[in-house]
Amino acid sequence: MKSLRSAAMESIFGYMEKYDYENLFLCQDKTIAFKAVIAIHDTTLGPATGGCRMWQYDSEMDAIEDALRLARGMTYKYAAAGVNLGGGKAVIMGDPSRPDREPVFRTLGKFIDRLGGTYLTGEDVGTTLKDMEYIHMETEYVVTLPTDLGGAGDISPMTAFGVIRAMQACCKRVFGSEGLQGRTVAVQGLGAVGHNVIERLHELGARILATDIERKKIDAMVEKYGVKKLAPDEIYDVDCEIFCPCALGGIINDDTLARLKCKIVCGSANNQLTEERHGDVLEEKGMVYAPDYIANAGGTIYDTDRLEVGGVNPERGRQKVSRIYENMERVFQIADRDQIPTYVAADRMAEERIRQIAEGKKDGADLKP
Ligand code: NAD
Repeated sequence: MKSLRSAAMESIFGYMEKYDYENLFLCQDKTIAFKAVIAIHDTTLGPATGGCRMWQYDSEMDAIEDALRLARGMTYKYAAAGVNLGGGKAVIMGDPSRPDREPVFRTLGKFIDRLGGTYLTGEDVGTTLKDMEYIHMETEYVVTLPTDLGGAGDISPMTAFGVIRAMQACCKRVFGSEGLQGRTVAVQGLGAVGHNVIERLHELGARILATDIERKKIDAMVEKYGVKKLAPDEIYDVDCEIFCPCALGGIINDDTLARLKCKIVCGSANNQLTEERHGDVLEEKGMVYAPDYIANAGGTIYDTDRLEVGGVNPERGRQKVSRIYENMERVFQIADRDQIPTYVAADRMAEERIRQIAEGKKDGADLKP
């Protein structure tokens, strides 16, 4: 039998103790070759919530580690966003393009239902809104749903709105004014979030430079908003005030740090810093970094708002997303107070909120979907 030990995890319990995980569930159904992991990190603020990823992992240990790592990330994301939810994640081991979606996702739904609301799921890499519908056939514990099933539908416009609010807070810090009028913004990735970011930047009068690896997406933005077209690799060298990564993770690295000329890095992409030390370098270079999980929380905030009050309310959801501006200001306050880079300050903000609520200083609402 293949060893479960990996360099990153000396033992599963050791890893769970190190980062304070609550539960780990392994689920299987050999009749449909189904293997999944559900990780629950911290439920201090509310039920563990986080999307379901479907991915072909090299080993089951890799899948477990990914579920654990992603679940912890969700704890921080919700805590920092002021949402009363904890962190969790599900991963299904397998080819994300496998065609038998209904049995696979209904099986996951049955396992999620068994947890009785401890874990709420949603979309992630390799899963779609349609997959969520299959899960929903077996359990009510699904956050991301189409509007006809009571969900918020496509959340990427709200993710984009949150990115803009974070960007405005960064502008206030750097330029003394939050206005984006006349600011030069380089947007990388013109997909679900990126194209919505461009639409808003255009409304706000920014000068937009943009790139994507898909030519037709750039051409559409050139035609619609008159953006200046860049080749994919050119974006790191261009003169701009704001770099807005909305494509891939790992784009802040040794190579790009030597090339970027911007004053602000603020975008939707997850895991922008290749390594934590790259966040220190941004700071040393005097660039303001909007921590990814603060800036890209808009969709998540909007999506989960209905759990707290009952039913989707677009105006209320939008107002909550708008508060990403204040969240960024708080990150800056903590960074200044403790003399730390913003990426560390964001973690500290999340940890402080969880600690305060755990100590009973604030109400942690008992959320039910
Ligand atoms: P998407 O797949 O719709 O769009 C990504 C775009 O980036 C695509 O158009 C793709 O062609 C382009 N791209 C890929 N590699 C590129 C490169 N090297 N240079 C330029 N463009 C490149 O994804 P999305 O939903 O818009 O998400 C974008 C990022 O934001 C991802 O990192 C995602 O994890 C993160 N995010 C998205 C949401 C959301 O609401 N969709 C929420 C939080 C975080």
